[in-house]
Amino acid sequence: MTNSKLPTAMNAEKFPKVLKDIDTFIFDADGVLWLGEDVMPGSPDFLDHLIRLGKRVIVLTNNATKSRAVYAKKLAAMGYHHSLTKDSIVNPAAVVADTLHRAGIHRTDKKVYMIGSQGVQDELDNLNIEYFGTGPDPISRQSDTRPFIYDLELDEEVENVGAVVVGYDKHFNYHKLMKAANYLVQDESCIFIATNTDETCPGPNPDTVIPDAGPLVAAVQVASGREPVVVGKPHTPAFDYICHRWNINPDRTMMIGDRTNTDVKFGRDHGLRTMLVLSGCHQVDDIVDNQMNERDDMVPEFYADCLGALVPKRNQA
Ligand SMILES: [Mg+2]
Repeated sequence: MTNSKLPTAMNAEKFPKVLKDIDTFIFDADGVLWLGEDVMPGSPDFLDHLIRLGKRVIVLTNNATKSRAVYAKKLAAMGYHHSLTKDSIVNPAAVVADTLHRAGIHRTDKKVYMIGSQGVQDELDNLNIEYFGTGPDPISRQSDTRPFIYDLELDEEVENVGAVVVGYDKHFNYHKLMKAANYLVQDESCIFIATNTDETCPGPNPDTVIPDAGPLVAAVQVASGREPVVVGKPHTPAFDYICHRWNINPDRTMMIGDRTNTDVKFGRDHGLRTMLVLSGCHQVDDIVDNQMNERDDMVPEFYADCLGALVPKRNQA
């Protein structure tokens, strides 16, 4: 056991004391604001409460399958405050597009080889970044005169490909893996960027494993021997993106999420205040395990049952 401080259990009575030291709240979405397609009870009231007090609210999800515009509609449909729009939301799809834009890819003739879903495509479209490779790509597309593994037909010449993006893609297969690895190995200047490296996605059936982007990123990484820039939590590009968009003071900013290894670590690594809510993935036992393993970077300052438990009693419906 380390000497690190035990996190403080937070509730509606104790919260106002902390609240006065915070200007900006960054919320994870799944397990915090919603659970899959269902709103998390009490969370809209809590965000209303913060917005009424003039606090800034940012939503930072690691899910890149949909664009920010789609998530904004989801928040509105769940009854969240009308001031929360696409511009209040950050997801890895937006950060990937922004990173490529900053690298100036839209000013070259180069395209992006895309392993990823609609969310990343929409965000690249928003910034006029050209991409190819989306959708199913069966090996049967290769001509059968020679085994394709010895004579791979690439959709674009290697020199025309400025970046390989890897995210969750239900059409991922050997063919896409081979193309991605070849673009990355044959041109060292080709950028390798990944949305997130979460191992699995949450789902309604706990017995079903749903692989997320992590295993796909790992496959391309191993095949190419190249190290990706990963933009999602807990990595720094998501933090840099937030700092470019908003003038935040990390000391007066709190990250609230349901995972210690992404949300809490993201907050701790970037100097933010942190709170774990127990309404999603990780529980108090996980915090204790992290302390035993001397992983203070995954131990939050506070924990609470859920956001609804922090709403002042007089505001509760
Ligand atoms: Mg979550």
